[in-house]
Amino acid sequence: MENLAKLDIKFLHGVGPKRAEILAQELGIRSYYDLLYYFPFRYIDRSKIHKINELRQLGENGEMPYLQLKGQFAAFAVNGEGVRRRLNALFYDGTGSIDVVWFNKVKIIQESLRTGTEYIIFGKPTIYNSRYSITHPEIDPYKPEMENQGLKGVYTITDKMRNRSFSTRTIQQLIQNLLNTLKGNRIDDPLPTDIIAKYHFLPLNEALTNIHTPASVQMLQRAQFRLKYDELFFLQLDLLRHSKFRSIKNGGHRFTRVGKYFNDFYNHVLPFPLTGAQKKVIKEIRADMGSGRQMNRLLQGDVGSGKTLVALMTMLLAIDNGFQACIMAPTEILARQHYETISRLASQVGVKVALLTGSTSKKNRDIILPGLLNGDIGITVGTHALIEDTVEFARLGMVVIDEQHRFGVAQRAKLWGKNTIPPHILVMTATPIPRTLAMTVYGDLDVSIIDELPPGRKPVQTILRYDNHRHEVYRFIGSQLKAGRQIYIVYPLIQENEKLDLRNLEEGYEIIKETFPDYRVCFVHGKMKPSEKEYQMQLFVTGKAQIMVATTVIEVGVNVPNATVMLIENAERFGLSQLHQLRGRVGRGADSSYCILMSNVKISGPTRHRLEVMTQTSDGFVIAEEDMRLRGPGDMEGTQQSGIAFNLHIADIAKDGQIIQAARNDAMRIIDDDPLLTSPQNARLARQLQFLFKRKQDWSRIS
Ligand code: ADP
Ligand code: MG
Repeated sequence: MENLAKLDIKFLHGVGPKRAEILAQELGIRSYYDLLYYFPFRYIDRSKIHKINELRQLGENGEMPYLQLKGQFAAFAVNGEGVRRRLNALFYDGTGSIDVVWFNKVKIIQESLRTGTEYIIFGKPTIYNSRYSITHPEIDPYKPEMENQGLKGVYTITDKMRNRSFSTRTIQQLIQNLLNTLKGNRIDDPLPTDIIAKYHFLPLNEALTNIHTPASVQMLQRAQFRLKYDELFFLQLDLLRHSKFRSIKNGGHRFTRVGKYFNDFYNHVLPFPLTGAQKKVIKEIRADMGSGRQMNRLLQGDVGSGKTLVALMTMLLAIDNGFQACIMAPTEILARQHYETISRLASQVGVKVALLTGSTSKKNRDIILPGLLNGDIGITVGTHALIEDTVEFARLGMVVIDEQHRFGVAQRAKLWGKNTIPPHILVMTATPIPRTLAMTVYGDLDVSIIDELPPGRKPVQTILRYDNHRHEVYRFIGSQLKAGRQIYIVYPLIQENEKLDLRNLEEGYEIIKETFPDYRVCFVHGKMKPSEKEYQMQLFVTGKAQIMVATTVIEVGVNVPNATVMLIENAERFGLSQLHQLRGRVGRGADSSYCILMSNVKISGPTRHRLEVMTQTSDGFVIAEEDMRLRGPGDMEGTQQSGIAFNLHIADIAKDGQIIQAARNDAMRIIDDDPLLTSPQNARLARQLQFLFKRKQDWSRIS
């Protein structure tokens, strides 16, 4: 592998300096290795040539596949003007005819095609005006050897490449050249032989050959299985090795005592019994903090599941053991809310709590900073301001990070320096993360899950409404306002569509003001100056404004129990997890709450199904799994933001749960025996890790 990575792609037959430059620029392919591991993103079946009169039946068995037809063109015609200009042709094969359409390069295509010549066209027929048609098919003049070509890989290429006549075909050809070059050379297989035997894996070189040019569907599946496993196995090995290394190297403060603070709180202050799930995770956390290892734990729990309380009790344990604790929130508002809750509760057991944020006055800082340094202050609640170098603690033993995906990795890293032995770290997230995703993205963290809400919660009633019901919806909002409740109205705002979205948002704001003239409406979006945003948010939090028109900036943390309606405009444009987060903003008080998903178009199919999931369940994990299934893991909340390079080539976290689990178990066994992979039999693994991960930023030391 390492040898192949040293071979410059420009020396491959068919490449040369120009193409090498494009490959590097557009696809990051610089070496033989890079190209070898540039896998197809799908396969097309070229083993069969279909007849046009078979199409109807093919379409009936589910989605129409990509397929190839053999026949001739007749009757080319250019229709429409400007952007609507297109080339139409009739294609017939003796059993029937279909339409073929091109929207660009009309002239070039028309000139290159002939009537009376036999072609193979490849594409996906769709029905248009009750006729089958194919748009932009791949076209080749027919040659007998095209019969039975088998499976072909299709590769992603960029527009820029396409413009420089670099097609998926070009890649296929280069890959073929590469495979020919490698033929006969054994590719060093880094996987331990017992693992290869255990799963009956294809040898690596066969797997690589078949991933590009599958000999059969079955061989393709075996190749995929092997290569997915490889990818996940080395990822797990790396994650586990780092976390093991970390705990060996650092050790951790050993919190063995359950003392006065914790017990007093538990027996006298706690306003309600803990839920079973809260008890369970506190137990897990205690065991971890008492082990002598540094804790790095992810606490997952739906909005309202009572994570703050768990965090507080964890911090009290730290204090019982003679340490200080802090909790970091991503925004000023959240920090203030935590401060209110936590100081109210902790002061009852005599723990001093301070709030430290960017807007803490100099005067207050001058009181707080010495209090941290001399150990007077037990719990500090804050924002990023906490990680500034000027903030020093006497004995920081425990750090809670709330809504962690808003924190950059580098910022988390700074926490480590706050004590010679790094503090225990509890990362809390209200975005439920599917198990397989957690194992991968947070594979070096231990995970605790609160999977139960406190009793007596009324689920938020969720309904889907179209624009033609807007009047009723507004009437309903009016009645809630009259009853003294508050309302959120949320608009999508995405970068690609930012201008239009902002306009919608502003229009929406104006309409709401006109519709509800007796109430104060505040207005919040991410493009505002922080101070203005803060001001508008406070209007709502303090009840001075009854309606908040906003983008998803309110997603995290705002706690207004009096808010009972969450109206989401263009709900079809949000991810499920995001909708779930937004819905969590209501249903926090005693009154019945509602989440209204508005869509201004009649939606159908998968989009409708997505929104229906929301109306049917309030279980965040079910929603997260569904979201990942529908959107794929790349878009999931918490993946991009986690700061972790998330670039699996072939494995799919949404679909390959079993392989992830198997790979993790295998990696765990190896790391348990040989944590640092120093034994000779693991030398090859260590080398492979070094090879695979050396270019990546060393993030895993952090969190
Ligand atoms: P999260 O941070 O997980 O969204 P919070 O910790 O803010 O949830 O808790 C939400 C609400 O539930 C708070 O008002 C809290 O006081 C309350 N709560 C927490 N635990 C319990 C419990 N065991 N029984 C009843 N209410 C609880
Ligand atoms: Mg919370």
